[in-house]
Amino acid sequence: MNACVCGALLTDHANEGSPITYDAGTGKYRLEASLDIVVEDMRCLMCGGQGIGVRDRMCACGTVERWAAAEDSPVYRNEHNGLLMLKGRERSDGLTPHYAIWYCPVCGGRMDEAAYVDEV
Ligand SMILES: [Zn+2]
Ligand SMILES: [Zn+2]
Repeated sequence: MNACVCGALLTDHANEGSPITYDAGTGKYRLEASLDIVVEDMRCLMCGGQGIGVRDRMCACGTVERWAAAEDSPVYRNEHNGLLMLKGRERSDGLTPHYAIWYCPVCGGRMDEAAYVDEV
């Protein structure tokens, strides 16, 4: 299974503030959003390894919802559009990047988007 087919992982992990790191030894991407939220060998949040907008496989593991339900979690639901979001790390310019979670980083399934208003 591909970790990413859209190329976002390739560029994202190098950006300051990104919670994603790349291990050249194993060729795997690792997500570490907090002490509790760590995914070894993650799937791309943008494409899930399926492709942008592809809905062939939906998330069945529920991991992201579990993260969002935890207190003080870097994962939260955007109350305006219903998207699940991931907060990155604060950069040296004081800004913190936020990422929309279109696909589950654990199973690569498309997130349930019943609540989403529109895609950006
Ligand atoms: Zn991707
Ligand atoms: Zn999942």
